[in-house]
Amino acid sequence: MWPTCSSPRIGALLAALLLLGCGTISIDQERALGDEFSREIRREITFFRDEMVESYVEQIGRAIVDSAGAQPFPYSFYVIEDPEINAFAAPAGHIYINTGILLNARNVSEVAGVMAHEVGHVAMRHVAQNYNRRRNTGIAHQAAVLVTGILAGGNWAGAANVLGGLGAMSYLNTFTRDAEREADAFAVEVLPKAGFHPNGLVTFFSTLKNQGGGGNVPAFLSSHPTTDERIESVRQMIAAANLPRDLLRNDGGRFEIIQHRVRMRTGTAPR
Ligand SMILES: [Zn+2]
Repeated sequence: MWPTCSSPRIGALLAALLLLGCGTISIDQERALGDEFSREIRREITFFRDEMVESYVEQIGRAIVDSAGAQPFPYSFYVIEDPEINAFAAPAGHIYINTGILLNARNVSEVAGVMAHEVGHVAMRHVAQNYNRRRNTGIAHQAAVLVTGILAGGNWAGAANVLGGLGAMSYLNTFTRDAEREADAFAVEVLPKAGFHPNGLVTFFSTLKNQGGGGNVPAFLSSHPTTDERIESVRQMIAAANLPRDLLRNDGGRFEIIQHRVRMRTGTAPR
């Protein structure tokens, strides 16, 4: 049960939530915020427009969401043309996957692992919790200005001076360790139901961790700290789960075709 507020003006309400403390934002409030964020983010990103690749990612996302039980939001999945290894969940079920994830994953279970983790943040209302958590920090006022600016529409330019759209996303996507653990647990539980082997989460996080050691830390890693402890805890969750034998790690060459297509379209050399 989430606390609710009664103000009819969502912009003023969210600012009040951040500044005065009025509980976690409601489903409707998060939905309105998610729509606005999506509109703003579109000005800053380039979508990777390829029907085959988009529908591949969409199918993985649908399989995960359909296996996750009742959800607070309908989900939308988008592919961003960006070689950086990154994925993020905007408020209210808008999930963005960079082509960098598709290029650096080794199989479909790794892509599914990242996506299930992001769905977990949405399903467990972590973005909404971030509003709540940040409300009590020194940047609460900046966040209030940002949120008011976004929801006021015309005042976005002013709000952008405080934090840009993607800056706002990394701000909202910096989760507590408990939230990361919950999203991991969600992924380990849901991935087998969707037909994917959850070990993809472990192997992809290991890849991220190794890349982070080279000094060029991927954004996904800085916003989702991948510690040995976290990888180990996911490994233990998987070991404790009673998994069916036929879970997908590879999908009969489909992932490789998708990856090849992304390489061709983006002019990226094979690893
Ligand atoms: Zn995360």
